[in-house]
Amino acid sequence: MHHARSLYATRRQFLRLALAGGALLTGCTPTSAALPLPEIACWPLGRRAAVAFTFDWETAMGGLIHSRSVNDPNVNEDYLLRARRMREGIATTRAIFAPHGIRATYYATGYNFLFGNRERRTFLGDPSFTWASRANGWLSDRWVSSPWFGDDPFGTVATHPEWYFGDLIAPLRTDGHEIQSHTFSHLHGGLADRPTWQQDLETWNRVAAAQGVAPARSLAFPWSSSAGMSDASWSIVEQAGIRSVTRLSDQAQYSLWEVDQDGLVSAPCGQWLPGREGRIRAYPDCYLTPASEERALRQLDRAIAIGGMIDLWAHTEEVTSAAQIATWQRVTARVAGDAQIWVAPLGEIAAWEAARVALILEPDRQRSDEQLWNMRLTNPTDQELLGLALKLPVQVARVRIDDIELERSELEQPRGTGWWPAIGLVTLDLGAGQTVELQFVAP
Ligand SMILES: [Zn+2]
Repeated sequence: MHHARSLYATRRQFLRLALAGGALLTGCTPTSAALPLPEIACWPLGRRAAVAFTFDWETAMGGLIHSRSVNDPNVNEDYLLRARRMREGIATTRAIFAPHGIRATYYATGYNFLFGNRERRTFLGDPSFTWASRANGWLSDRWVSSPWFGDDPFGTVATHPEWYFGDLIAPLRTDGHEIQSHTFSHLHGGLADRPTWQQDLETWNRVAAAQGVAPARSLAFPWSSSAGMSDASWSIVEQAGIRSVTRLSDQAQYSLWEVDQDGLVSAPCGQWLPGREGRIRAYPDCYLTPASEERALRQLDRAIAIGGMIDLWAHTEEVTSAAQIATWQRVTARVAGDAQIWVAPLGEIAAWEAARVALILEPDRQRSDEQLWNMRLTNPTDQELLGLALKLPVQVARVRIDDIELERSELEQPRGTGWWPAIGLVTLDLGAGQTVELQFVAP
């Protein structure tokens, strides 16, 4: 009913927030003097922090044959062996997450969707990338003049399983994992030109669609290569529908996060990409290996302490040794067993945050007095918010949503929808485009 009007209000509010800059990060509505407005909690069910488990996942054609010495810890290994482990890592990581019901994000390159290429399809106009040079960190100058996809053996998943992972998409989807973009070609973000970016993102979406996978909304930069991205390239990324990014450059001059002397992000939480507030969310990531396990756990504690978010990641190829599997099992169990943490695929965390900052909470002063506070909460987005939590700034005796009194749930754990008076928390499911009337009755 309030829908059309609210949409306009949102746009205005949104611009105001965008101009205010930092206000978007908290998105918390200032309390009016007369009416105590609840604070919209950052995460579902009032949880303290969010965690995404994510993987860079690529076939021999991804970053493996195009090996670069910078930002690739396994650069000296045989690329076909690495590709076999990339494949194997799907089975091992699925097995790690299944007992906990955890859904992860797999950032795939384009050949991951193919069952083969007997038909000798060419992609992106069969390019060579002059930027893939020794001067820019490649091991040789081969790719400056050789076609980027030129080593495609034109086989199938049966004859050349290192090159095509099309058979692994369905199992990932069955488990509910999210598949997002590591770019089609495993390009270098800061060096690729605009037409390449454009074609790359379109081609990824096309091969993904052939497997029933939705267009990418999240992007993990190959080689953490966001450094040097032009504003025009970012616009192409945004226009292609990308709403969140990770694996950003950790070079100090490009980093969005302050890093302390231990290499830990001081305040791990999502940030809007400067100039694209409300449109592209960037997330801090932490590489999880046996060597970094202790640091990753400290990074996790820090995310909980500040109510933030951390993306724990590796390549699937790594989670194949006994030591790596043990590390991932321990950290997964630690996260899954902590009710303070919301674990979700990275793209879903980004969609949640974008919708949350667009919510409109308006006091209804005409219908309010000292004993009764009425307000309207509108979700103008196309994203449903399950378990949206409101923190009440004052004690109340009763809570009604659309005239239905909420049940008090003093002790019930885990929390669902309802009202927890002891901690002043109200949770509800708010559908896409939905407006609800909230009513709080003073004690
Ligand atoms: Zn990669």
